[in-house]
Amino acid sequence: MKCPIISLLACLFVSMTAFSWAAELPDSVDYFTDNGYGNPVALIQHPSGEYYRGVTYVTYQGPMEDPYVASYHHETGKWTGPYKAGTSVLGKKAKTKIDNHGKPAMIIDDAGYIHLVFGGHGGLESYGENPLGNTHLGKMIHVVSKKPLDISSWEVLENIPPFGTYNQFVKMDNGNIYLFYRHGAHRSNWVYQKSTDNGRTFAPPVSILKTKPCKKVKAHDAWYCWFLKGKKDTISVGYNYHLCKEKAHDGERHNGYYMAMDTKDHLWRNVKGEKLTVPLTKEYADRMTLVIDTGDLWSVRGVAALDSTGYPHVTFTIGEGMGLKHGGPKQINHYRWTGKKWTSGGCPDLPVADGDIRVSSSNNLDLLLSHKDDNKIGEVAWWHSTDGGKSFKKGKILMQGKRTGFAITSFIRNAHPDALVVVGGKKGKSDFTKMYLLGDHGPIKRLRAEADQLSPSEKATPKRRKQR
Ligand code: ZN
Repeated sequence: MKCPIISLLACLFVSMTAFSWAAELPDSVDYFTDNGYGNPVALIQHPSGEYYRGVTYVTYQGPMEDPYVASYHHETGKWTGPYKAGTSVLGKKAKTKIDNHGKPAMIIDDAGYIHLVFGGHGGLESYGENPLGNTHLGKMIHVVSKKPLDISSWEVLENIPPFGTYNQFVKMDNGNIYLFYRHGAHRSNWVYQKSTDNGRTFAPPVSILKTKPCKKVKAHDAWYCWFLKGKKDTISVGYNYHLCKEKAHDGERHNGYYMAMDTKDHLWRNVKGEKLTVPLTKEYADRMTLVIDTGDLWSVRGVAALDSTGYPHVTFTIGEGMGLKHGGPKQINHYRWTGKKWTSGGCPDLPVADGDIRVSSSNNLDLLLSHKDDNKIGEVAWWHSTDGGKSFKKGKILMQGKRTGFAITSFIRNAHPDALVVVGGKKGKSDFTKMYLLGDHGPIKRLRAEADQLSPSEKATPKRRKQR
């Protein structure tokens, strides 16, 4: 029989050291599955999950680059799944690299059906001419749960083009669903499609950022975007520019930009409220929507959030050239609009990291960041600022692992504090990754017998080459 005092002490200990607790209970682990595959989650394909009526639903890239869905009932502590929710065109040829671009995004419609869009990396040439750009690989696919809030069975809805990638959902308070994506490979417009019938049909794509031959060098103008629901009826986007070279192509990207759309009239405006004509060209975006001109430095698109006054905060990672891709010097930077100008504290306190931002007022902001320190210890931790981003202090560490890299999603939609983000923990050389549902008390636990999903043959699968 358990002594109540010992139980109480055990509870206190557990809450203080949530991420190490699992090791002490042999039948419980801190991951909900071990079948994440490749780079199973990222910030850009989002939301990666949604909290809805007491349950958190999550999605990620699983075996064969197919989308998987699991759910966690917060009151009963019961996990369900993961279930395979669709079949990607990507990931089916044994000798090709893991493509990793087809990660799923999730939205739950007003009738409770769960939607995923996944599998796109520009679409194969065999799908025909892409009217808004070029083609590459995969096929953007839309699936929906056959029953409301039931993740066990899914069907394909043939109602979106095959050419998309970097799929992102925004759902408005009136239930309208916007699907944003790049309409093809690098040299493609960014677009949205609107659904007013719970995702059963979508209006044709509307271009918002234009790809075109670059004026200065033999290259095309290209873009990377991250969308979010703004105040009331607005949708905001933080984005950066990719110089897509014809020869010696590399990851050269610059600058940071911001703009917002009012979904009442579908007009885009810059941060000053000036109306914009879409699709924006590079020159027009530079003139009207620039947050930061990085000059010769390169940038990586981050995330955005609005403070209580409706002013935007955006993040971009900025560094020297290819160092951005290969672990060289780089810095996550935070910018906020004061009402008159964009300002930044330079963020010298912040680590080299990825993650989302939450803003309660213009001065109080919280970043949930994944990074690896000099001792190769990976961690996901809060970083807080109380002076509008001039300085940051590290807060609570939510999870930590030696020689582990943590891939982190954007915040889950309507997130419960116990389940803020989905995390993939990359350790060792396997292509498979343990998946965590992480909140303010660390990862949510699961019985080992339920969480260990991989078969011995899957574990023995030869490692494939990676593509970011
Ligand atoms: Zn390119």
